[in-house]
Amino acid sequence: SSTWSNVPQGPPTHSRNSTNTLPGITEAFKANTFTNKVNLGVGAYRDDAGKPYVLPSVRTAEKRLIFKELDKEYAGITGTPAFTKAAATLAYSASSPVLDNIAITQSISGTGALRIGGAFLERFYPHSKTIYVPSPSWANHAAIFKDSRLDVKQYRYYNKETIGLDIDGLLADIKNAPPRSVFLLHACAHNPTGVDPTPEQWRTISDVVKNGGHFAFFDMAYQGFASGDTDKDAYAVRYFVEQGHQIALCQSFAKNMGLYGERVGAFSLLAASAEEKKRLDSQIKILVRPLYSNPPIGGARIATEILNDPELNTQWLSEVKGMADRIIAMRDALKGGLEECGSKLKWDHITSQIGMFCYTGLRPEQVDELANKYSIYGTRDGRISVAGLTSGNVKYVAESIHNVTK
Ligand code: PMP
Repeated sequence: SSTWSNVPQGPPTHSRNSTNTLPGITEAFKANTFTNKVNLGVGAYRDDAGKPYVLPSVRTAEKRLIFKELDKEYAGITGTPAFTKAAATLAYSASSPVLDNIAITQSISGTGALRIGGAFLERFYPHSKTIYVPSPSWANHAAIFKDSRLDVKQYRYYNKETIGLDIDGLLADIKNAPPRSVFLLHACAHNPTGVDPTPEQWRTISDVVKNGGHFAFFDMAYQGFASGDTDKDAYAVRYFVEQGHQIALCQSFAKNMGLYGERVGAFSLLAASAEEKKRLDSQIKILVRPLYSNPPIGGARIATEILNDPELNTQWLSEVKGMADRIIAMRDALKGGLEECGSKLKWDHITSQIGMFCYTGLRPEQVDELANKYSIYGTRDGRISVAGLTSGNVKYVAESIHNVTK
């Protein structure tokens, strides 16, 4: 018999024919022949014509890079310093007093940053081997941390009744966790709910995390993409640092630079001193070396060019804002469309939520009806990707959502 006859078929989370998974939705969408079909399952930005978008600043950076005829030598284990320094500056801000104490490595986008972070916690976090993630969270969080041999537990985050933040549950769960627990926090544009704490709520969360002696592990996959302003979206991270939290931070340039497949990201740890930073740097290198030796250079070069060239940087910031603004405009249009249809339900959460995703509050049967009757595809948890809405389809989507909810 085959060497692999004992390998079981994996569960449908990764299968192409479950309509509750993005690959499954994509398949069902492709197979549908209706001309007005709409895919609201996409996890990537789309322009107003529904097409993938390559930022003009990225195109310019690429042209410059070709012209430079750079070599293809290996980067260092933790990537090129020009990139990691710029990434840290973007996240922590150029005026941050802690910039010199940040141990940082380039990573295989946000996922790779989380995986290095998981490995680092597993190897060195002295107080616990458990990480608390919000309920719900990006599904890959649990998978990444389990593969890092951490225990994954949940803290309350989303309130189904209010379609908003369960701030009381969240604070209670942080308070009641064993001292010095690790908490994963979405820095902005929470995936999948689109529900973020307000700045005031972040300040309370910071206090409660501090009182428990807990460790804040930030995942910032959408800096700039949420509000259109990279500083505003970094509020939580910077506030925690100001308050003396020794945070960990995962960054991704997939969304805010549209560099999805280029896999550009960074993982950083805030050290207490220059001497400690050196120790952390050395151990990050020891972790990364046997994982993948050193990171890919192509995407990081594009990001470096954009972050470090003042003119291109300004252009990029306006393009990020353009993407965020289009998403915010589509939220307004969807809510407005539902109201125009005469919907008696409250849809304020559509516009109060932020980022690419919207938790509509639709029930699984309603999502099924949207797909079966109207050829509009989202996940059965009621999540839609606002990036899949366009000025051409938003009215149709609003009418259809009204029809399945009235
Ligand atoms: N964290 C969150 C919350 C995300 O939504 C994503 C992307 N979907 C990531 C991390 C990582 O994505 P990537 O590895 O493409 O940077």
